[in-house]
Amino acid sequence: MKRSAAHLIRPEILDMPAYPVADATGYIKLDAMENPFRLPAALRSELGRRLSDVLINRYPDPSGGGLKAQLAACFAIPPEAEVLLGNGSDEIITLITQALARPGAKLMAFEPSFVMYRLNAQFSRVDYVGIPLNADFSLDLPRVLAAIREHQPAVIFIAYPNNPTGSRFERADVEAILDAATGLVVVDEAYQAFASDSLMDLAGKVEHLLVMRTLSKIGLAGIRLGYAASTPAWIEAINKVRPPYNVNVLTQETARFVLEHHAVFDGQAQDLCRERARVAERLAGFAALTQFPSEANFITVRVPDADALHAFLKQAGILIKNLHGSHPLLDNCLRITIGAPEENDAVLAALTAYFE
Ligand code: PMP
Repeated sequence: MKRSAAHLIRPEILDMPAYPVADATGYIKLDAMENPFRLPAALRSELGRRLSDVLINRYPDPSGGGLKAQLAACFAIPPEAEVLLGNGSDEIITLITQALARPGAKLMAFEPSFVMYRLNAQFSRVDYVGIPLNADFSLDLPRVLAAIREHQPAVIFIAYPNNPTGSRFERADVEAILDAATGLVVVDEAYQAFASDSLMDLAGKVEHLLVMRTLSKIGLAGIRLGYAASTPAWIEAINKVRPPYNVNVLTQETARFVLEHHAVFDGQAQDLCRERARVAERLAGFAALTQFPSEANFITVRVPDADALHAFLKQAGILIKNLHGSHPLLDNCLRITIGAPEENDAVLAALTAYFE
């Protein structure tokens, strides 16, 4: 009895559901903001050859130095910034939270936003302060500033653009938060490839700013690579809680290869932005559906009955994310990842069948 998980695991962890991932086998998969396009076949073959030379009998380069330099060059990371690599940006959220988890420390994020911020606060026993967004998913800046004064959070996570809403907050609001913050401000730019702004230009220059990105949304969700750029003092401190070989050799080599060809991904992201505009235009034709402006590779919509439409699309072989019930502001909302043109056509055809 005393040895059982039920006895030993913290009750709040026992009460949690595991992170839900739907089984997408056989579906048009538009639930997880992946890039639908693969690498061109010639590059895939070349990658295979490169990977066959990787020393899988050895531990990875623990610092990932060469990869960091390549990321800095490809993504305009300022020379003042240092870079930290993570097993996806999920891991970077964990490392930041662990490093800051002093007794009484608070983690602030907005609601609704990426759920891993709140979950990591729970995992690391950091107090969570969730500030609701406005009904149109913009930031309630006066409320945010008042909450910063009241709670003095050790860290504020800002998804820019935000998931699951697709909204990009005003840059001036993020800068006002940076001015008011008493701790680290993490600007999570997972969707930067599809957005019209970034704060990377300030990384390494504003002491308490950390800009975080991932390769997941631009075509490499399977290799799990996230990166963070900030001032050396912050990166070096967070690096102390990083497991020594957190980014494996196959991921490092794949990323290095792919970054040599990153124009391919830039082109794919542009194609997805064009698809997003096309889908948005078509969605505007459905009177019963409200869509929220998106700067990410998905569009969040509100419909009269999200559960019914989600089930209808599933029946039609299309998997999207049902947000209904996850937060009061997401009542009857669905999140549709932008896919390849024919996948988006399938969604639009199914919506036509449903609504007309
Ligand atoms: N940040 C945001 C805002 C996200 O939406 C996601 C994934 N959905 C992540 C971070 C994590 O991405 P990854 O771990 O794949 O890098």
